[in-house]
Amino acid sequence: MKFSELDLKPEILKALTNMGYQDLTPIQEKTFSPILSGRDLLARAETGSGKTAACGIPLVQMIDPSLNAIQVLILVPTRELALQYVEEIDNIAKHTGVAPFAIFGGFSMEIQKAKLRDRVHLLVATPGRLIDFLYNTTAVDLSSVRTLVLDEADEMLKMGFIEDIDFIMSSMIHKHQTLFFAATMPNEIDRLISVYLKEPIRVELNKEQLSPQSLVHHFQYTDRHDRLNALIQYLKREKISQALIFCNSRHHGEKLTKELERKFKSIGYIHGGLEQWKRTSIFERFRQKKIDLMVATDLAGRGLDFSHVSHVINYDYPFGQESYTHRTGRTGRMGRSGIAMTFVTDQELGVLKSMLKMNRIDPVWHGNIPNLQAVHKQYGRRDGKKFFKKRSRPVSRVESPQLTGMIPTPLS
Ligand code: ADP
Ligand code: MG
Repeated sequence: MKFSELDLKPEILKALTNMGYQDLTPIQEKTFSPILSGRDLLARAETGSGKTAACGIPLVQMIDPSLNAIQVLILVPTRELALQYVEEIDNIAKHTGVAPFAIFGGFSMEIQKAKLRDRVHLLVATPGRLIDFLYNTTAVDLSSVRTLVLDEADEMLKMGFIEDIDFIMSSMIHKHQTLFFAATMPNEIDRLISVYLKEPIRVELNKEQLSPQSLVHHFQYTDRHDRLNALIQYLKREKISQALIFCNSRHHGEKLTKELERKFKSIGYIHGGLEQWKRTSIFERFRQKKIDLMVATDLAGRGLDFSHVSHVINYDYPFGQESYTHRTGRTGRMGRSGIAMTFVTDQELGVLKSMLKMNRIDPVWHGNIPNLQAVHKQYGRRDGKKFFKKRSRPVSRVESPQLTGMIPTPLS
């Protein structure tokens, strides 16, 4: 179906044409009418399938630009995602008079406050910064919000975020529509969905297939001591336009970056401990293809749209079953081809076996193939994360004694 067949404001259609969007993606087709109808919605579709615009186009259509109030609130887990999200909405809303804005940590609240007091119709926010505003200022008024969106909804309902979400929702007691978008929906959050969504319409595409079909899943079984060498050899022999290389901790990322800098020229390292201006600048340089290899913690694991990334490499095996899907989903987006390469050691064979089964992945092995038939036991979730459990603010995510030192870094 084409956007021109929808009853869109001509200003939106003009913007979409300029953006090169002609046909709706499947998730956009399925969610457009439910969103306009005002119903609650749960929308699940694989990474890179166009969920931002699926949400953004009908919401921009619904906003009344003559009413100077926040009418749509979109919550996202990371600062970078807030920026990317608002850029897409900015493009969609360019000719409409609708004013989108994003607030997130690491930037001056004073500047953000001035903009909020002036004119914002659609607000994209990370929960932490929004709560700062709600606690400490009167600059954010949510009383006119008609639609609340949780992007990466499953992440937002996990420990570390859920209290923030509860707090934000408690500031919005008036009637409104709630939309959840996600690529993964673990069963654990079913109960929470029924708490937050009222008789939702459920749109779940490709339930059987969590990753895009254009993504090929490669694995290499290696000894922990040989892994660095295996990675270097892999990077040398592969035709890589750009690669994201994931580590599970800041410390490990730093070590790896130093090692790679000896062999390769164009390396960046992104993690949550960097000052915001550095984070933004590295992301921008990576986007502009000025960096070939970017080492990253899970900060870069969710939602970010890096269209040039040819390879996603799990140097450290990801924590949690969904994390594999999100990390690797940074490539192979919108039908482009992409390669995921994951290094696996003996320790991870149990979780690997169940991950392959759950995601219905047909692995391509490099070198020795481990005997997965012989691996029986799965040792539970290795990320130490639990749903539902409440923690007091301030939040720094997830500590589990036996995993200390192996914890993924905070997302925002
Ligand atoms: P998701 O949130 O599902 O992972 P995104 O919303 O980040 O996916 O979109 C992935 C890419 O697809 C983006 O680069 C976006 O600009 C592009 N895109 C979205 N909708 C369309 C469309 N209808 N036609 C062409 N490109 C699109
Ligand atoms: Mg997204």
